[in-house]
Amino acid sequence: MIDDTIAAISTPLGEGGIGIVRISGPDAINIVKAIFKPVKDRDLDNENFKIIYGHIYNNNNNSDTVNREIIDEVLVSVMRAPNTYTKEDIIEINCHGGSLPVREILELVLSKGARLAEPGEFSKRAFLNGRLDMAQAEAIIDIIRSTTGDALKLAVGQLKGGLSRKIDFIQNELLEITAFIEANIDFPEDEIEEYNLTTIKTKVKKVKEEIKNLLDTADTGRIYRNGLKTVITGKPNVGKSSLLNVLLKEKRAIVTDIPGTTRDVIEEILNLGGVPVKIIDTAGIRDTDDMIEKIGVEKSKSAIEEAEMILMVFDSNEEYDYEDEKIVKMVEKKCGIKVLNKIDLKNNRKNINYKIKEVLPNWPLIEISAIKEKGIEKLEKKIVDMVTGGKSITSDTAIISNIRHKNQLKKALIHLEDVLVAVDKGMPLDIIAIDIRGAWEAVGEINGTAVTENIIDKIFAEFCIGK
Ligand code: GDP
Ligand code: ZN
Repeated sequence: MIDDTIAAISTPLGEGGIGIVRISGPDAINIVKAIFKPVKDRDLDNENFKIIYGHIYNNNNNSDTVNREIIDEVLVSVMRAPNTYTKEDIIEINCHGGSLPVREILELVLSKGARLAEPGEFSKRAFLNGRLDMAQAEAIIDIIRSTTGDALKLAVGQLKGGLSRKIDFIQNELLEITAFIEANIDFPEDEIEEYNLTTIKTKVKKVKEEIKNLLDTADTGRIYRNGLKTVITGKPNVGKSSLLNVLLKEKRAIVTDIPGTTRDVIEEILNLGGVPVKIIDTAGIRDTDDMIEKIGVEKSKSAIEEAEMILMVFDSNEEYDYEDEKIVKMVEKKCGIKVLNKIDLKNNRKNINYKIKEVLPNWPLIEISAIKEKGIEKLEKKIVDMVTGGKSITSDTAIISNIRHKNQLKKALIHLEDVLVAVDKGMPLDIIAIDIRGAWEAVGEINGTAVTENIIDKIFAEFCIGK
């Protein structure tokens, strides 16, 4: 039973336009009544889902109005349990921002009996009070961090339950298999019909297939979550800087500021056609240029190793030579695009570029002019297609974007494989049922139906304070 009241600043610190202090719990309304005076004569006790204008006072209860001090002019939103984010009474105080008034108001709230919320504690309450399942709560982290519109759609999809619905479905199928096994379990071994064993196997294989399909979405999910790690490479003077510049110029770099999380970093990610692209970089985006010359072969090798996408630039006016060859050897095991640059220059490229068409045979070739900004959209579209397999992302798409989810699905798969082996070996049905149960639990840790307190704490600790 949760019985205390928590409070935190739920907007990023700093000179924002407004700041919000959020309070949740049984005393939320009383605490605010002690420090807030509405301009019109209104009683917070009689309000619900209303926004009320007034002032926050120091010493509000002091009848000696001379010593009462206005801290800020505010809008107070009153939201009563149970139809709130945490399912508890919630009050949000919108104040003028600037970090000073927000902090002063938070301190006043704490002095009236609220406790400072831990990171993610509001969402944790939403989960514990049954408002969100685990996958949905995790989606909130993703929403806070999402870098492009498509990444946001995915996260919103998860919040609306896209993944949760899929997981519920899989859990249901596993329960049905358990029920089927239970129904057979009372028979002596030799009377279990071969037909029934086959049925169990068929059902298990079907669930395995569904889990595998979900696992297949993990790569796409990870890219939307973390950005596609991309390296622009090629020998000197082919136009790498020029390409990077045109990408940077067209696509305003997105800066994600993640305050108060464990990562506490500022990342620069480009939005290329909805795909967040992170140019791999050891010392700031603009220095990645001419990586091979600047940071040496060893370092560029490891950058290439880490990359999920290589853009290898060639000069369409130059013969393919040993310098290109050297780089091709470094990248040939990776996934990438051959970028044939400087097509604006007149020459008889068709003759000199045949080698470029032959090497890296599985990589698509896109012709561009970085200087004249030709072919850039085509290049972007190709990147997007390679990430999504041509499918578009909607908020109904169930995609795994979370390493924890991926691991749970893998665990479930192992249990199901054990089931198949056990059936073939003629193991007793109650042993088989244990592995089905194991799979159900593994999957259940994704939506939180079978989740331990330890995991709950770990997940919510990833949130920002105030969320
Ligand atoms: P990097 O060494 O691979 O980074 O190549 P740069 O981007 O520095 O470009 C080398 C030279 O090629 C510069 O003089 C650029 O202006 C020129 N260049 C780059 N892209 C193009 C292009 O699309 N067309 C033409 N005509 N010149 C280009
Ligand atoms: Zn350069």
